[in-house]
Amino acid sequence: MIKVSCLGAAGCVTGSNYLLELNHDQKIMIDCGMFQGGRQIEERNYKNWSFDPKQVHTLLVTHAHIDHIGRIPKLVKDGFRGKILTTSPTVELSRIMLLDSAHIQEMDAEWQNRKIKRKNHKGLVTPLYTTQDAQKSFSLFSAVERDTKISVCPGIWARFRNAGHILGSSIIEVWVEDGDEKVKIVFSGDIGKNNQLIVKDPEVIRDADYVFIESTYGNRLHRSFEESKAEFVEAIEYAFSNREKVIIPAFAVERTQEILYILGEYHRKGLLPNIPIYLDSPLAIGATEIFRKNQRFYDDAALEIVKNGNDPFDMPNLRFTETTRESEAINHIDGPAIIIAGSGMCTAGRIKHHLKHNLWRKGSSVIIVGYQASGTTGRMIVDGKKWVKIFWQNVAVRARVFSVGGFSAHADQDGLLEWLANFTQARPRVFVMHGEPSVSEQFAALVKERLGFKAYVPRWKERLILSPKDVSMELFAEEDAEETISQNMLKAIGELEAELQQLKSRIADADAETKLTEEDVDRLKFIQEEMQIVINTPEYADSAGSA
Ligand SMILES: [Zn+2]
Ligand SMILES: [Zn+2]
Repeated sequence: MIKVSCLGAAGCVTGSNYLLELNHDQKIMIDCGMFQGGRQIEERNYKNWSFDPKQVHTLLVTHAHIDHIGRIPKLVKDGFRGKILTTSPTVELSRIMLLDSAHIQEMDAEWQNRKIKRKNHKGLVTPLYTTQDAQKSFSLFSAVERDTKISVCPGIWARFRNAGHILGSSIIEVWVEDGDEKVKIVFSGDIGKNNQLIVKDPEVIRDADYVFIESTYGNRLHRSFEESKAEFVEAIEYAFSNREKVIIPAFAVERTQEILYILGEYHRKGLLPNIPIYLDSPLAIGATEIFRKNQRFYDDAALEIVKNGNDPFDMPNLRFTETTRESEAINHIDGPAIIIAGSGMCTAGRIKHHLKHNLWRKGSSVIIVGYQASGTTGRMIVDGKKWVKIFWQNVAVRARVFSVGGFSAHADQDGLLEWLANFTQARPRVFVMHGEPSVSEQFAALVKERLGFKAYVPRWKERLILSPKDVSMELFAEEDAEETISQNMLKAIGELEAELQQLKSRIADADAETKLTEEDVDRLKFIQEEMQIVINTPEYADSAGSA
């Protein structure tokens, strides 16, 4: 039996994490991301795994964004010793991302503990993981070639295809063989736009029995990129003519490099005023170095720049400010400059200092180029708030704010549908993931309407039983459906019976003094969960509804 548990990015955008089980012997994972965006959802990061990390054979990673890799050090800390397979840029980017994340975890815990100590309360907190935990996970990473089918473990094969989202990002095709049953599952990861800067367009895939697709922008269309680039130049010219600064909060991976790429292009065309440009983020500087080293993952346009003897991410006025002292010095420099700094949503890091120094200055500009989650300082600036709080101080927003929408590294609604339409012949069953609940539901409805595929939005922790194509295709036929459903249900109950039988004999063998072991409790929990699945699996639910 092939099962996929949706342990993250189910009904939300973050925490991507699937557990794929082939019978009880083979367990692999796809992505192991962090939940982000508010305390309630972030608490999930601290919860115990609903499986034993020691038993997971391999982790396949789609790309190096923290919502796809952020819990890897915790997984390793909790006993995972398998391989972590991904593309080589993802291996490199994951290292700097995880070190940065560990540092944030440590700082957070330290800050909370200071507060706890002040109140003289007990119960100091420990970080989710430390720098040491992150470093321990690095030895498990190994790079795989793209477009090559690899054997993951007995009965499971995988192939990494370009997802066109960030450097090294992948869609992962997975083949699972259970005796005579063969199933192909495609995990989209995050899908980029066509014609995105630097990276190649997402790979077209035509066949699959099941597709797990992201839906971040499943309800939206992006503004055109040309329009966005024009706005970007306008923002620079505005601040330059006022002899003020341009502040760009940017995510360290991909977005920062895209901005450098555009600035480089404008420089070569002579459109950029002669002012200093600061890349003020050690993480973004590290990421840019990795981009520079991995030219074979560039698209044709980026390669053309290299061929002409240029570096797509460089120009004469660009300065990397690695140390805190260099960063602070920027604030004492008079006159116009462009400052690119993290974090992307203005919630932490050096960008806060630059906003504190420039947001209140009439004539300066702030360019918002990325997604701003609700509740973040970045979102308040975009929403036109007159004051925002930075370092416990109210700062007036007098700078001109430019929201440049066309820089997204995600396909929009049309892009996602277009990518999915390539599967028309195969007519896979679609699971809509990685989106706000209403957005995913809306997108699932659209998939049904436009493409005629069965589409479903799994809930968090939902476990799906995936039967081979011919069976699930038969589900389209009303009469056959009932039979398949009852057969599947019988099979599931049969497996549960076997589990119960084992538990029964274990307890019968034990003498009167023996208590239930941890393993017994686990087994009971497992049976309970499985019962829940029998009740919640869509096929079974459909049948209950139609009965
Ligand atoms: Zn991503
Ligand atoms: Zn993502």
